[in-house]
Amino acid sequence: RTVYVNGDYLPEDEAKISVFDRGFLMADAVYEVTSVLDGKLIDFDGHAVRLERSLRELDMAAPCSKDELLEIHRKLVAENGIVEGLVYLQVTRGSDGDRDFLFPAPETKPGIVLFTQNKPNLADSPASKKGAKIISIEDIRWGRRDIKTTQLLYPSMGKMMAKKAGCDDAWMVEDGYVTEGTSNNAYFIKNGTIVTRPLSTDILHGITRKAVLRLAEEAQMKIEERLFTVDEAKEADEAFTTSASAFVMPVVEIDGVQLGDGTPGPIAKRLREIYLDESRKTAV
Ligand code: PLP
Repeated sequence: RTVYVNGDYLPEDEAKISVFDRGFLMADAVYEVTSVLDGKLIDFDGHAVRLERSLRELDMAAPCSKDELLEIHRKLVAENGIVEGLVYLQVTRGSDGDRDFLFPAPETKPGIVLFTQNKPNLADSPASKKGAKIISIEDIRWGRRDIKTTQLLYPSMGKMMAKKAGCDDAWMVEDGYVTEGTSNNAYFIKNGTIVTRPLSTDILHGITRKAVLRLAEEAQMKIEERLFTVDEAKEADEAFTTSASAFVMPVVEIDGVQLGDGTPGPIAKRLREIYLDESRKTAV
């Protein structure tokens, strides 16, 4: 696999990052994951705009222009023959050659790494046909979840807790209300109304969330952006999550409580289809 590191395209085992890089030492880094369908990028613009925002919020310099980013994405997709899969992008604050809590001098060059992941069944995934079983866990992450940082230890632990419980993923709960999934935004549907938490610094502003809510509105579906509890979601007709890497993922069980007949619900399935159709049409 060819990867991109700080200006160079290299075989993955030849790529190098400094041991003093703050992304490595302090998770002082932001990232994006863009999906690829039919060899094309889904919502590249959305991801590029969110990356700019994450960088701005952390006073981190942009490593290159949006056009250059698109070119790097495309080159890696082509070079690695990705028809369906993901492009992972990370920008780190870099380092000036030592470990220090204080940020390095402003002229320090940020680091940038991109690699692809081949996922031949991304759109037609068996997991999406079965639907996900979810556990709820406490949300103990920091308070700026709107910035897409690489601080993914707790989400990883959450996925491990789900796995140990024989489930697929976890939804996190703060002050009694669901924030989001470990790597996705969370929704339930009751009597035809889609409910999801409103945007704030408490959750990541999902690129897929934005697209799916727009498409749901265009399809005349009812949407309520408000806080909701796990108990409400357990009594729902359906539930689902959204993310760039899993699109719309139906949820069939929450904390051992089966939703509907325990198979993906009709609205979640329809949203997945609409989202995939639209994404393929607008891919770059
Ligand atoms: N929420 C969290 C915590 C995430 O990590 C992600 C994706 O990685 C999402 C939501 C979904 O965001 P997107 O649709 O932009 O992939």
